[in-house]
Amino acid sequence: MKRDNDYQFETKAIHAGYVSKDHGDSLTPPIYQTSTFTFSSIEQGANRFSGEESGYIYSRLSNPTVTILEERIAQLEEGDAGLAFGSGMAAVSAVLIGLTKANDHILCSKGVYGCTFGLLQMIKEKYNIGHTFSSLNTREEVLSNINENTKIIYIETPINPTMRLIDLKMVVKIAKEKGIKVVVDNTFSTPYLQKPLTLGCDLVVHSATKYIGGHGDVVAGLVVGDSETVRFIKKTAQKDIGGVISPFDAWLLIRGIKTLAVRMDRHCDNADKIVEKLKTHQKIKEVYFPGDKSHPDYEIMKNQMKKGGGLISFEIKGDYEETVRVVNSLKLIPIAVSLGDAETLIQHPASMTHAVIPEDVRVKMGISNQLLRLSVGLENWEDIWRDIEQALG
Ligand SMILES: *Cc1c(COP(=O)(O)O)cnc(C)c1O
Repeated sequence: MKRDNDYQFETKAIHAGYVSKDHGDSLTPPIYQTSTFTFSSIEQGANRFSGEESGYIYSRLSNPTVTILEERIAQLEEGDAGLAFGSGMAAVSAVLIGLTKANDHILCSKGVYGCTFGLLQMIKEKYNIGHTFSSLNTREEVLSNINENTKIIYIETPINPTMRLIDLKMVVKIAKEKGIKVVVDNTFSTPYLQKPLTLGCDLVVHSATKYIGGHGDVVAGLVVGDSETVRFIKKTAQKDIGGVISPFDAWLLIRGIKTLAVRMDRHCDNADKIVEKLKTHQKIKEVYFPGDKSHPDYEIMKNQMKKGGGLISFEIKGDYEETVRVVNSLKLIPIAVSLGDAETLIQHPASMTHAVIPEDVRVKMGISNQLLRLSVGLENWEDIWRDIEQALG
């Protein structure tokens, strides 16, 4: 299907970026499992390298299966162009390293993915690219943390695992006044629930390992933005650092994306039901879910997201030992990090994803020893709840 903005999300998820007659009339996109491509003559090779003739050269630069995926995610995020990577972190690092130089500064939402936190430390130490963490929850909070070297505002919303949201339109307004690029990690929401580019943000990054792939069988990353910025990242950080995706993994994502809308609806509906149950259970102290009316950022959710998402954080009444006992009593729900899979997954941030953060800092961030994060899967919600209820009992 050629670009056609009249088609809705669900249709684009299945057709965008693929024209079967260009691929031997194959209904499903083929996997071009090749490292390199042949030229008919020296002249043709020279023209491909100079860009005078379009066409493939070598699979670190581009590959037809990967191209289909890149065009599909670009259309779903409503951006000009997409880029695929071998992991979410390859995507994040290509963007942050690609768009900054020594002495630049990155303003970052308080609470980012652990390895993004690690990357920020590394580029500070090695290249003196500084960063500041901020709640970004008021205009003053954003403005007071910008300096003349700030090149990027990097945002995760919802924030893991506290589930607070950031008002993207508010941040974009300030960033535009100051000429700063806004980059959003849209892993938790996917373009089905939230489209940062339509709100004025400049780039979206994804760990496609999560909801986009959706089946827990691939590690991959994606970037979407305007053609000029995407081409720049493609020709610099992606080409020369080389964190590209394999054709097979690209194919798995193309396959996963076909059902993205259907899956997201079910993830969200199941999460709504589980939240209702958790909120009335006497062993639960607090539930953090942006789709819940009592959530402090519920209004922001209404403005920038379609639904509340499939991730719930909650606190158990009791101490660390009690939390361990509950989690270890689960029978159906596996204990695992990652999220967005068909299987419901539970993890304990204090001892897993956020274990490296000193306890006092961690607790101030809202991550207590009793906090659990649930990635609600696609099982029957009553079965999911039955497992949680028996473990709480
Ligand atoms: C998992 C994750 C990443 C990193 O992605 P990988 O595919 O594991 O490299 C980045 N950001 C968020 C929000 C994530 O959940």
